[in-house]
Amino acid sequence: MGRIITWDEYFMGLAHLSAMRSKDPNTQVGACIVDQDKKVVSIGYNGFPRGVDDKKFPWGREGGFMDTKYAYVVHAEVNAILNSPRSLKDCILYVSLFPCNECAKAIIQSGIRKIVYESDKYADTEGVKVSKRMLTAAGVELVQLDYKVKLDLEVEPSEEHKKIC
Ligand SMILES: [Zn+2]
Repeated sequence: MGRIITWDEYFMGLAHLSAMRSKDPNTQVGACIVDQDKKVVSIGYNGFPRGVDDKKFPWGREGGFMDTKYAYVVHAEVNAILNSPRSLKDCILYVSLFPCNECAKAIIQSGIRKIVYESDKYADTEGVKVSKRMLTAAGVELVQLDYKVKLDLEVEPSEEHKKIC
């Protein structure tokens, strides 16, 4: 038997697994929301809204506002919040990248009381500074993992499965 993973590793691992669904060619982000009983409540990744075709809308980062992903993408945290079937009061959000200021607003309003995050690579941007300012003011606890979770998903395809891989 292998080492039993910790709760933090488990939930951050689920966030990373979810991130693998993202079609963003530059940044795949995943989020996992759990309640105080350590039950997974919701999960999400960054992507366009339902019905907004990945093939017709841009994933680029350069150009006019309408021609970049920023105008269209729903972040992992907001998707996880919107995907939840229940109230998120006092829940904990696990996310692979520190939330932006727009997500911070939704996180605060949803009642989430703690964020466990991994990467903070945009810490120097105004968006993340504003985000931390709001989250701190609202009393949301912020905890950065001092290690990285890496998933390596292996699929052994059947003949049938090979047709879609
Ligand atoms: Zn965001």
